[in-house]
Amino acid sequence: MKDTASILILYTGGTIGMVHDPSTGMLVPFNFKHIEQQVPELQRFDCRIDTISFDPLIDSSDISPESWQKMAGLIEANYHSYDGFVILHGTDTMAYSASALSFMLENLEKPVIFTGSQLPIGMIRTDGKENLIGAIEIAASHDNRKTTVPEVCIFFENYLRRGNRTTKFSSEHFNAFDSPNYPPLAEAGINIKFNHNLIITPTVRKNLRVSMNLDSNISILKIFPGFNKEAVQKFFYNSPTRAIIIESYGTGNGPSAEWYIDTIRDYISRGGLVLNITQCYSGRVDMSIYETGRKLTEAGVISGHDITAEAAVTKLMYLLGNYDDAGIIKTLLNRSLRGEISP
Ligand code: ASP
Repeated sequence: MKDTASILILYTGGTIGMVHDPSTGMLVPFNFKHIEQQVPELQRFDCRIDTISFDPLIDSSDISPESWQKMAGLIEANYHSYDGFVILHGTDTMAYSASALSFMLENLEKPVIFTGSQLPIGMIRTDGKENLIGAIEIAASHDNRKTTVPEVCIFFENYLRRGNRTTKFSSEHFNAFDSPNYPPLAEAGINIKFNHNLIITPTVRKNLRVSMNLDSNISILKIFPGFNKEAVQKFFYNSPTRAIIIESYGTGNGPSAEWYIDTIRDYISRGGLVLNITQCYSGRVDMSIYETGRKLTEAGVISGHDITAEAAVTKLMYLLGNYDDAGIIKTLLNRSLRGEISP
């Protein structure tokens, strides 16, 4: 890394750059020039900042695996020309995108920092300015020519969090993201204080490998007391998917009804994978505590440990896209690949 860092901003869309359409009153995306005009501070950074905008710009509710491939491809194409990357992204699916990129960018040695805002950057009370400035500062941060955070992260409202540990928990607060099972990697106050011991830094240097293969042939079932037997059976028996994530209660528990366990067992015996995650905001799956959990383990259900739903979805897409062998996928689901779980 040179003394003066170079940063590439990928502008994908999201509220941060939106303006009100005078004819409808709705928020619609606007070009990066608008952001530059609102944040003249960008000129004052002691680093080179270039930008690539998605065309068209998208509301992140329209994000898809193809968008992740586009982001990963742009990072790969520009990897050697920049010291760090900032991705401006809508908040709605930011945690999915950050999780997906964390798996796709193998052997990452440079920061990829997602940010956005709850209020458009043109509004007086916007949170976008500080988020953008902080994200650039973090992406450019280095010590002794070594980058500080060689990870895919989300920087939002003063906190830097590992992307695949993060979830959007508020549609209202400026502090919209949390990583309930992993502490922030940094906190921005007067200074940005990094928790160096929590940041993953590669021990052996390897070339970046970008894995473009994603298989989205999965679905999620969130259980609730009184769920309809027929609907759940149809969900499993007619499923064209290769994997189903179950959002269970507490430490990974579900009903003990024979039909429920049999339905899951049958799906697994037909080659499907079932990953058990918790609907709780924080904490982890431990199927060894209750009888209901034990039955799921016996049926072949895999523990999601303390994974977020966003990381579970994208890790499965990544693994199914890269491996056919269910045994290997199972092993890798139980292993932390990018710090997404503490098994
Ligand atoms: N719907 C917007 C998006 O995710 C919300 C936001 O950016 O905060 O693109």
